[in-house]
Amino acid sequence: APVVLLFRHDLRVNDNRALYAAAQTGKPVIPVFILDEHSDDVRPVGGARRWWLHHSLTALETSLKALGATLLLKRGATQNIVDRLLDETAADMVLWNRRYDPPGVDTDRNLKSELGRRGLTAESFDGHLLHEPYLFKTGTGGFYRVYSPFWRAFSAGPDPRDPVSAPDGLKPYDGPTTSDRLKDWQLLPENPDWAKGFAADWTPGERGAQDKLAAFLDDAIGYYGNDRDKPAVEATSRLSPHLAHGEITPFQIWHALKAPDLAAEGQGTDKFRKEIGWREFSYHLLFNNPHLATRNYNASFDEFPWQNKADDLQAWQRGLTGYPIVDAGMRQLWQTGWMHNRVRMITASFLIKHLRIDWRKGEAWFWDTLVDADPASNATSWQWVAGSGADAAPYFRIFNPMLQGDKFDPMGHYVRAFVPELKNLPDKFLHVPWLAPENILMEAGVVLGGNYPHPLVDHQAARQQALIAYARIRKGS
Ligand code: FAD
Repeated sequence: APVVLLFRHDLRVNDNRALYAAAQTGKPVIPVFILDEHSDDVRPVGGARRWWLHHSLTALETSLKALGATLLLKRGATQNIVDRLLDETAADMVLWNRRYDPPGVDTDRNLKSELGRRGLTAESFDGHLLHEPYLFKTGTGGFYRVYSPFWRAFSAGPDPRDPVSAPDGLKPYDGPTTSDRLKDWQLLPENPDWAKGFAADWTPGERGAQDKLAAFLDDAIGYYGNDRDKPAVEATSRLSPHLAHGEITPFQIWHALKAPDLAAEGQGTDKFRKEIGWREFSYHLLFNNPHLATRNYNASFDEFPWQNKADDLQAWQRGLTGYPIVDAGMRQLWQTGWMHNRVRMITASFLIKHLRIDWRKGEAWFWDTLVDADPASNATSWQWVAGSGADAAPYFRIFNPMLQGDKFDPMGHYVRAFVPELKNLPDKFLHVPWLAPENILMEAGVVLGGNYPHPLVDHQAARQQALIAYARIRKGS
C-alpha cells in the first residue's frame, strides 16, 4: 500500500523529515499539498502569500518530479481530503511535518487520532521550529511571557538537531489519482495585478531560499549587528517569507551558522541567532495563547478608547499619512510584500498610537499584504507594539517618526526610494517636509496637500492623546 505525504507549510525536499521517512518505507509515495481553508477556525491565507504559494508550489512540483513523484493539489478540509485519498488509493500510512498555528494543531491532532482509531499509521515530524513550543517552562511550570528569560532557557536547552538531506528518490505511485490544477486556484492577483513588483525582489522556492541564506552569510552577516536597524541597508537576511512557507528550516540556518569561517563574525551571528529565537518565542506565546491574533493578551485593553477612523486607516494603508518614514514603509509593503523590521515597528506604532486605530486592523492588513505573514510573529509583534501583549513595552514609548527617520534613515535613501515625490528635498527636511520653507518645497517640486499630503495628525497633540488614553486603561487595569 502507498504512503500519503502531506505538504502544508513545508514546501521543500531538503531537511524534510516526513518526506525522508516516506522514502525510507520503500513504498510508493503520494505527495499532496492541501490548501485547507475549510477546517474549523482556519484563517485564510492572505493575498501576498497566495502569490508566493503559487510560485512555491510550482518549484516544489519540479523538485518532487526530479525525485520521481507527482505532487497532487487538493483544496478542502484536511480530514475530508485525507479520507478520500485513503479510499481512492488504499494507502495505510499518512506522514506530515508538524504545524504550530492553533487551528493547524487541532486539525492534525484530530487527524492523528482518527487515523489511529482506524488502525492506520499516522506520524508527524519536526521542521518548522527548533524546539517544540511547549518544551520550555518557567520555574513555576507556566510559559514565558518575556523574551530574555525564554532565550536563556532556550540557550541552555538541547542543541537543535542537524538537517537531513533530501532522499535519493521516491518510489512513484502509479495508481489512479486526481489533482486540481494550480491555475484554477487563482492564487495570483489579476485586475489589478498588485503583485507585479514582487518578482524583482523574490524567488519563491527552496533554491531561492538557499540563495538568500548564502548571500546573507557571504555579504551581510558581519554588519548585521550594527546595521540591521537601517532600512536602506540590505543588512538583514530576508529569509522570513522562505521560513513562513517552510522552503528553508531553522535547522538548516542554525547549522549554516556553525561554519568555521563565520566564527570571526561573532557579533552578527549571535544577534542573528537571537532573532531566530524571537520567531521561536512568538510560537511559544501563540501555542500558549491560541487567540493571540484576535484577543488582547492583556484584557484591560478591551476598554481602550480606539478611534478607528476609516479615512485614517486608508491613508495609513496607502502610505499617505504625511509622515515620510511611515509612508515609505507602507509603500515598501505594498510594492514588495515585505517591510523592514524597524519600519514595521514605526508604522505599527503610528497606527496604534498616533491614529489610535485598533492594532487588530493593522495586524489584518499585514496579514493580507506580507509575503512572510506569520500567525505567531505577526500577532506577537502587533501586541508588543500596542503594549497589550505578554511582554508589554512601556506604554509611554511612542515612536517619534521624525526622530526615527533621522536616526535610522539619516541620508534619506529609504524614503527617497519609496516616496519619490520627496526625492529632491534636502536631507534636512526629508523627514519633516512641513517644516521646509516655501521656496525649498517649490525647488524640490513638493506641493503639500498637492502631490504629498500634509501630516494626517499633529505629532505632539496625537502623542498627548495617546498618553491620556493609555493612562486611562492603566488605571482600570
Ligand atoms: P532577519 O533580521 O534577517 O531575521 C532572521 C529571521 O528571524 C527572520 O526571517 C524571522 O524569521 C526571525 N525574526 C527576526 N525578527 C523577528 C521578530 N521581531 N519576531 C519574530 N521573528 C523574527 N515576521 C514574520 O516573519 N512574519 C510576520 O508576519 C511579522 N509581522 C511583524 C509585524 C510587526 C508589527 C513587527 C514589528 C514585526 C513583524 N515581524 C514579522 C518580525 C520581523 O519584522 C520580520 O521577521 C523581519 O523583518 C523579517 O526580515 P528578515 O528575514 O530580513 O529578518
